[in-house]
Amino acid sequence: NEEKKEEKKEDTKKMEAPAPKKEQDIKSKKEKRAAGAVHNQKNNEHMLIEGSNILGRFEVKGIIGGGGFAQIFQAYDKVRKEDCAIKVEHSSQDIRRMKLEICVLLALRGSTGIPEILGQGKWQNGDIKSHFIVMQIVGKNLSDVRRSLPHKKISERTLYRAMLQILKALSLLHGTGFLHRDLKPSNCCVGAVDCSRIYLIDYGKRAHVGRVSRSAPLIAQSFLKGLSRQYLEYGGIVRKPRAGVGLRGTIRYMSLDAHARHDLGPNNDLVAFLYTTIECGDGSLPWSYEKTQDDIMKLKQTHTGEKLCAKQPKMTKAAEYIESLNYHNIPDYEKLTALIEECNPTDLKPSEPYEWQYR
Ligand code: ADP
Repeated sequence: NEEKKEEKKEDTKKMEAPAPKKEQDIKSKKEKRAAGAVHNQKNNEHMLIEGSNILGRFEVKGIIGGGGFAQIFQAYDKVRKEDCAIKVEHSSQDIRRMKLEICVLLALRGSTGIPEILGQGKWQNGDIKSHFIVMQIVGKNLSDVRRSLPHKKISERTLYRAMLQILKALSLLHGTGFLHRDLKPSNCCVGAVDCSRIYLIDYGKRAHVGRVSRSAPLIAQSFLKGLSRQYLEYGGIVRKPRAGVGLRGTIRYMSLDAHARHDLGPNNDLVAFLYTTIECGDGSLPWSYEKTQDDIMKLKQTHTGEKLCAKQPKMTKAAEYIESLNYHNIPDYEKLTALIEECNPTDLKPSEPYEWQYR
């Protein structure tokens, strides 16, 4: 039981850490804001109340979850005549995070694996002021799905097909010039209607624009003014990495580069993708029960390639490819997709239901 508690705790533990001296002041303000969010949630104050009519279109049904900063509500969309989700953050939170998420959702609108954005705005419930995004509702996240399965693992007949969908969403995201920076099982959700669809959620991680495709960034440019530092030349040239950046993301899934506070590139999202795949298939990661960052880092250093993939040997080539990438490389998503497709059992039919569809 203790182990379980620890596992759950670590999984959701996020870090917006004190970093270099220069950033100290900004961080302490951030910490205050974060503390405000926790305070709100502790007091159980819901930022939206049941029955509220948002934008004359969305009727709030109730709360369905909470992340590090946000409350997530289920609502009924009177136009589309179906349920949707509203992600709400207290107005004391840094609004740039939500603006960034809106920017990403708009840039990726219509892409498979990305929840569709349906609206956004500000709301006041009594004294509580908030800002919100309305989006397509998704189902359970892969962390909860895995825990609900008999061996607390996702079988190979399902796992790699699900992860291929996440890889596709990630490649689209990177193609627009954004990084995710907090990829983990609880940010990968099955579809609410079609649960053979997997969605990548939670795009508000102050991801700087790493590289830009020729077509996508116009929308990003207009939204991003002032949100992130100016990005490099057009057309896919990687910016110079910054030194000593703050630690962001979830410790269990972050790459060694992130621990070392190096500036992050798409390769670091792929490392988180690799750890997510290993955890979902094995039931845990070698460092799942470690308590200190140092111990976690040591195990990440010693568990790479074949050793990391000891229980999923077919993943070794993909792991080695991901580990071979650095900040300056543009990942070859087609190559990685092919390596992960090879992990599927040879007798697998594409139409075979996902493990959770039998239940
Ligand atoms: P935060 O940015 O505060 O971490 P997230 O966006 O990660 O918040 O959301 C927290 C949780 O809320 C997710 O793990 C997921 O279970 C649920 N959630 C988020 N977005 C949706 C959605 N569109 N539909 C249904 N549930 C969602």
